[in-house]
Amino acid sequence: MNEDVFVVAIDGPAGSGKSSVSKEVARRLGFGYLDTGAVYRALAWHALDHGIDTSDATAVVEVMGDFDLSISLDPDEYGVRVGDADVTAAIREPRVADAVSGVARIPIVRHAVNARFRALVELSGRQGVVVEGRDITTVVAPDAPVRVLLTASPEVRAARRSAELTSEDAAAVADALHRRDASDSAVADFTTAAPGVEAVDTTELDFEGSVRAVLALVEQKQEVHDAR
Ligand code: C5P
Repeated sequence: MNEDVFVVAIDGPAGSGKSSVSKEVARRLGFGYLDTGAVYRALAWHALDHGIDTSDATAVVEVMGDFDLSISLDPDEYGVRVGDADVTAAIREPRVADAVSGVARIPIVRHAVNARFRALVELSGRQGVVVEGRDITTVVAPDAPVRVLLTASPEVRAARRSAELTSEDAAAVADALHRRDASDSAVADFTTAAPGVEAVDTTELDFEGSVRAVLALVEQKQEVHDAR
């Protein structure tokens, strides 16, 4: 990855606070924000839009051929489009959440999408980008100056996700989240910090506390980076 762009790599499971914390950290630093999960979700949406079975890897790889994605890196103008369709809201629907792990477990998909993430960061024109996902600290940007794993207890994560999806039944939300975690954990280990990755447990932290914990890590590393 281009070392001129200061990358803050943040991994964690759903409900760890990863997306909201990453976006706010980006805002406060004046950095870009890249939600990699949204790209996998957009691809799952695209596959469903083509009426294909997302457990059929060959069919998913085929529809990737015309996957015309645009994603904003501006934390204040967050948006995801596939072709002419604004899918920012649609990719949060349960039918997409249920399909996304199947799409994300296909190695060719991951390879192509990772190249896309690196290009988005390198061509961002920004001084720094906060990149969040499941394998950013380990695969996408293992050399990033700041690498963080955000965790939280399963109960707290389910409660947070359920508060976001107010129209869904809380037990159903918890169930879907745990199923997705189990399926995702076959692809990337996002529950234990890899060597050199700082773990931040947000179970007992509120939003502001979580943001500050990450900013403190960034400040430490920026001092070292700037001193070079
Ligand atoms: O972060 P979010 O929950 O929106 O991610 C949606 C899905 O995208 C995850 O459940 C996972 O299957 C996939 N994902 C991934 N690797 C990433 C980010 C997301 O496999 N770096």
